[in-house]
Amino acid sequence: MANKIKVGVLGATGMVGQIYLRLLKNHPWFEVTYIAASPNSAGKKYKDAVAGRWHMKEEIPEKMANIVVEDASNVAKAVGKCRLVFSAVEMDKKQILAIEEEYASKGMAVVSNNSAHRGTEDVPVMIPEINEAHLEIIKAQRKKRGWKDGLLVVKPNCSIQSYMIPLYALIKAGYPIDKMILSTLQAVSGAGYPGVASLDVIDNVLPTLAGEEDKSEVEPLKIFGKVQGGKIVSDNSMKISAHCNRVPVTDGHTACCSINFAGKKPSMEEVIKIWRNFSGPPQELKLPSAPSPVLIYRDEPDRPQPIKDRDAGNAMAVTVGRLRPCNVFDYRFVGLHHNTVRGAAGGAILTAELLVARGWVEKG
Ligand code: NAP
Repeated sequence: MANKIKVGVLGATGMVGQIYLRLLKNHPWFEVTYIAASPNSAGKKYKDAVAGRWHMKEEIPEKMANIVVEDASNVAKAVGKCRLVFSAVEMDKKQILAIEEEYASKGMAVVSNNSAHRGTEDVPVMIPEINEAHLEIIKAQRKKRGWKDGLLVVKPNCSIQSYMIPLYALIKAGYPIDKMILSTLQAVSGAGYPGVASLDVIDNVLPTLAGEEDKSEVEPLKIFGKVQGGKIVSDNSMKISAHCNRVPVTDGHTACCSINFAGKKPSMEEVIKIWRNFSGPPQELKLPSAPSPVLIYRDEPDRPQPIKDRDAGNAMAVTVGRLRPCNVFDYRFVGLHHNTVRGAAGGAILTAELLVARGWVEKG
């Protein structure tokens, strides 16, 4: 790209924000020109705002270390500095709803990690391999809200990406699923920093994660839904029952899933073949952050494991294993993905790349 597209990161000092800066350091299309966080960090150089809480193995990217952090609520400061913002602020839901809309109303494309707008009927919840067609709703969004160049898309909850692409690959191949029961084993980085108290989680499993089970049951239905009459209508043909647990793993969410097919079930060999051959628009468009393959099926009986599999495909692939018959439903399997990369910053960057590739954000 001749000129890189200027982007901002809201919540750049947090766990997800730091991953954004790491992933965007040498991005071929995007250049970070605007950084924002809470009023506590505003006015400081980025390197001073994160002093003592920079969690990445690499040093703070040099180009970003001296950028002065702005207050994310002061939207006027971003105008003219960036065309697209990634939102990873941890704020009150009402405030997030308002500031994300304000950034979009000022002409910016907003790609958000927050849950606030996931239920908004004209805001797509994007997994680029699955629901590219939902980007069509941006036309209705702009018309309804009077936005000219602004737009708002969000990422789903980080826990669901361990199984959404495996499920979609089967549905797309002609095998709709009507029931799923799943249990997640979610990493501590999913709770941000400082996150869960160490004495609560070391040597322990926490069985209640506020809101995660509802999100795991509702968000997939919207992602599998259709754009109809200016809104996204969920596909309620699948019933999902979720148990979500926090476990003492740093990165990498695991999901143990049992699935039932609505009609004829494929053989296990066919399921594995479908998974291994699956690709979506990011792979076909060769987007810079697209993993290829996106689904990795491991034959070993003890895979996937967070330590061994979370970084597969630059931490953007989903690793699946242990496909076997289920005594209650048709099959069971284990899925795993990197929650702060594919499940947060990396997945949002892939969505932004799709927005550019499809012309919703003009190339630089
Ligand atoms: P985090 O580590 O707690 O970081 C929170 C960020 O929000 C910091 O940059 C913080 O700035 C900023 N912030 C806090 N109060 C603010 C305010 N009043 N105004 C503006 N900025 C404010 O959280 P995180 O894990 O990065 O998560 C960020 C968002 O992404 C959350 O909505 C979370 O649900 C979502 N998410 C997280 C994950 C994950 O795996 N961690 C995955 C998917 C989605 P200061 O440093 O200045 O306080």
